[in-house]
Amino acid sequence: MYLEPFTSRLVPDFMDTHLIHPDLRFNSYGSYLRRRFGCRVSKVNVDGGFTCPNRDGNRGVGGCIYCDNRSFSPDTIQETIPIESQLLAGIAYHRTRLGSEKFIVYFQKYSNTYAPVARLRELYFRALDHPDVVGISVGTRPDCLSDEALDLLEEIARERYVCLELGLQSMDEKTLHWLNRCHDFSEYRVALERSAGRGFEICTHLIHGFPGESRESFLKAAEIISSLPVDSLKIHQLHAVRGTVLAEMYFRGEFIPLTHQQYVTSVCDFLERLPPRITIQRLYGSAPLAIRVAPEWNLKNNRMWYSIVHELKRRGTWQGCRLTGACPALPSLQRVIGDS
Ligand code: SF4
Repeated sequence: MYLEPFTSRLVPDFMDTHLIHPDLRFNSYGSYLRRRFGCRVSKVNVDGGFTCPNRDGNRGVGGCIYCDNRSFSPDTIQETIPIESQLLAGIAYHRTRLGSEKFIVYFQKYSNTYAPVARLRELYFRALDHPDVVGISVGTRPDCLSDEALDLLEEIARERYVCLELGLQSMDEKTLHWLNRCHDFSEYRVALERSAGRGFEICTHLIHGFPGESRESFLKAAEIISSLPVDSLKIHQLHAVRGTVLAEMYFRGEFIPLTHQQYVTSVCDFLERLPPRITIQRLYGSAPLAIRVAPEWNLKNNRMWYSIVHELKRRGTWQGCRLTGACPALPSLQRVIGDS
C-alpha cells in the first residue's frame, strides 16, 4: 500500500498507545500483522466453493439485498480452481505487487463454515499447507457455526493464526429485516459467546448508510462493539451493484446513498469512540466500475482510505481518543465539513 506522506511525521504526545499507527491514527490490521509476524503479511482470497443458507432456502432465499445475484449461478459455487492454484496465484501477486513475505488465506466468498466439518478440515488444511502461509481467515454468518466447526477453528488456532469473520452489518433489527439478512442481532451475540476464548480472533463486519439509520445509532454500534469480544472490524458504506435488489431500490429512489463527506465524518466519529485494541481491517467498500451503481464517489481505493486518515489528521484526533477524554474540542471542526 502506498503510504502518502504527511507534512509532519511528528507523533503527537497524546497518542498514548503504541497500538495507534502514528500516520494513520488508528490501529490498522496491516500494522498489527506486521507487529505480530515481523514482516508484511497479505490476505490472499480463495474461493472454497461454498454457498450460503440465505440463498439455498435453509434460512432464506434471494440473499441479502446487496448481494450480487450473478454469484447465485451454480457454476460459481463450485471449487472450480483448486485451492492450491488459487493460492499460488494470489501469493505471487501480493509478493510482487506489495512485497509481502507471509500470507493469510482468506475464505471470503459466501459462508465459509457452511459445509460438513470433514470438508472444512480438508479445505482449511490444504490452504495451510504452504510454507509462507501463517494462517487462515474465515468469513461466515452468525447462524452458520456448528460446534464441530468452532472446535476445528480452535484446533487450528493452537498452531496457526485464525481469524473468524462474522457478518453482522447492522445492530438494528429493523435494518437486518430490511436487508433480508435472515438472522437477528441475538444470533450474532450467541455466535460471539460461543466463539470467544477459543484462541482465534474475531472480526465483525458493519455497514453504514442504511435508509432510516441515524448517525447516532451507527455511533452507538461503536460503543456496543467495544464491550464485546471483537478483535477487529471491517466497516464499509452501503453500496449497490448491478443485478441486486438494492440497485433496483436505488433506481426507484428508495435508497439514497450517503455522500462521501457524510461517510467520512461518521467513520471518523466512530473511530474516535472505538478502543485502540480493536484493529481496523477495512474502512470502505469498493466494486468494479462495470457493476457499480451507487454511490458514485469516483475515488480510487487509496483515496477513500486516505480521506478518512486525513480527516482524523485535520481534526487532530485518533482511534479511541474520546474514551480517554483526550480528544480536542470537536464540534466546530465537525460543522466545518457538514456533519450530519
Ligand atoms: S450472507 Fe453473504 S453470501 Fe449470503 S446472501 Fe448475504 S451477502 Fe450473500
